[in-house]
Amino acid sequence: MGRAFVYVILGGGVAAGYAALEFVKKGVSHGELCIISDEPVAPYERPALSKGFLLPEAAARLPSFHTCVGANEERLTPKWYKEHGIELVLGTGVKSTDVKRKTLLTTTGETISYKILIVATGARALKLEEFGVSGSDAENVCYLRHIADANRLVDVMQSCPGGNAVVIGGGYIGMECAASLVINKINVTMVFPEEHCMARLFTSKIANYYEEYYKSRGVNFIKGTVLSSFDFDSNGKVTAVNLRDGTTLSVDMVVVGIGIRPNTGLFEGQLTLEKGGIKVNGMLQSSNSSVYAIGDVAAFPVKAFGETRRLEHVDSARKSAIHVVSSIMEPNKTGEFDYIPFFYSRVFTLSWQFYGDNVGEVVYYGDMSGSAFGAYWVSKGHLVGAFLEGGTKEEYEAIAKATRLRPAIEDLTELERQGLSFAVTV
Ligand code: FAD
Ligand code: NDP
Repeated sequence: MGRAFVYVILGGGVAAGYAALEFVKKGVSHGELCIISDEPVAPYERPALSKGFLLPEAAARLPSFHTCVGANEERLTPKWYKEHGIELVLGTGVKSTDVKRKTLLTTTGETISYKILIVATGARALKLEEFGVSGSDAENVCYLRHIADANRLVDVMQSCPGGNAVVIGGGYIGMECAASLVINKINVTMVFPEEHCMARLFTSKIANYYEEYYKSRGVNFIKGTVLSSFDFDSNGKVTAVNLRDGTTLSVDMVVVGIGIRPNTGLFEGQLTLEKGGIKVNGMLQSSNSSVYAIGDVAAFPVKAFGETRRLEHVDSARKSAIHVVSSIMEPNKTGEFDYIPFFYSRVFTLSWQFYGDNVGEVVYYGDMSGSAFGAYWVSKGHLVGAFLEGGTKEEYEAIAKATRLRPAIEDLTELERQGLSFAVTV
């Protein structure tokens, strides 16, 4: 027994929400589209979970941040899906797939068949156990990927006002959660293996700016080491973290953000995988022509870089979702996905944006002791990446445009002298 749909989206996160809106804009008929998600709520803007959701006052709560409010579009509540004849199957995992038969088997035992499948399964948070540390299921150790994790993080924060937290990982989750914990008046120590925070994107000079700001807000950094074990009380709560460098820190809570793995497991042996994700072409179509992939799980050709990349950011999830619907519903009118990577973060009163690629030589501009500064990356004589902290809307648009245009750069000193005005006038 089972149901059949023309289009099925597997996964109900950011990409699924944006694809649903685009399907409706392109005139999908009632009953043709189904979304299956193991989360209990309709697609929402996941970035809210480490920002507005964690505020001590006037915190963001659903339904306020259902997709697609993050792009100033309609807010798709469960009622919206119903009114548009979209079958939203929530709280239901898919446990196996058969791409030859074009079927999915759900955890409730239902077989759902499709003509076209869009895989939007996102990623899962890496667990400390995968690095040889046990005990991360303790009640005061928090990960952050889903709304259930965010609810738990709020409960744990509220159980230890004024307490001590250790944040493991110096990436996006680490930086954004550390800021939120400080705003909640919790004392924070950040621990990560690299020499500086955000090591995959930031140079040491950029990282220093943020680390100094965090220190001014009371955050303590322990760098170049990792967690080796936890100490527990008789109730199984973590009371201390032991680091490989011999340090022991007493804690009331721990937040872990040590990276993710894309959810490709249902397709291993069935679809071609690359860079940890499902390999797709410029139409976002996988090695099976009835299966497409979008968002964090998709490894797609980035034309500007001439190579396949898998991106873990919300803008790429939104844009790939919009593109896949055009690829499917208007194939003759749709070109290849042509995307320039865009990452951003907002913490405390700080806000940065980055476009392009962080390879080549770095040219800094602006006042790194003030509130606005930036950097350009120049590779093979062209501007390939741009970063800006504290910009205006127009300035961010300017660095985005400049990166897209990849202007030739002959003189790095002149680029440094012009600074932001180079992007504004290019
Ligand atoms: P997801 O949004 O993760 O959705 C995947 C969905 O598929 C989930 O609902 C999942 O439960 C479901 N699923 C998976 N497997 C199955 C299965 N077998 N059966 C049924 N359902 C399944 N990016 C930025 O650019 N800026 C930010 O500020 C930012 N903040 C973030 C904050 C947090 C806390 C997190 C976790 C991420 C943040 N990101 C941010 C990253 C961004 O949210 C992701 O890139 C984006 O959510 C990817 O969208 P997606 O649809 O591919 O995956
Ligand atoms: P990141 O990949 O950003 O960072 C993980 C960090 O943890 C890295 O600094 C990594 O170091 C470090 N690390 C790895 N292993 C260990 C270990 N054993 N002990 C201590 N540190 C370790 O992942 P996050 O978990 O921070 O973020 C998860 C996902 O959420 C990402 O896809 C991210 O893009 C997304 N996100 C994005 C946001 C944004 O765009 N503003 C905000 C919040 C989340 P190393 O580099 O050496 O591996």
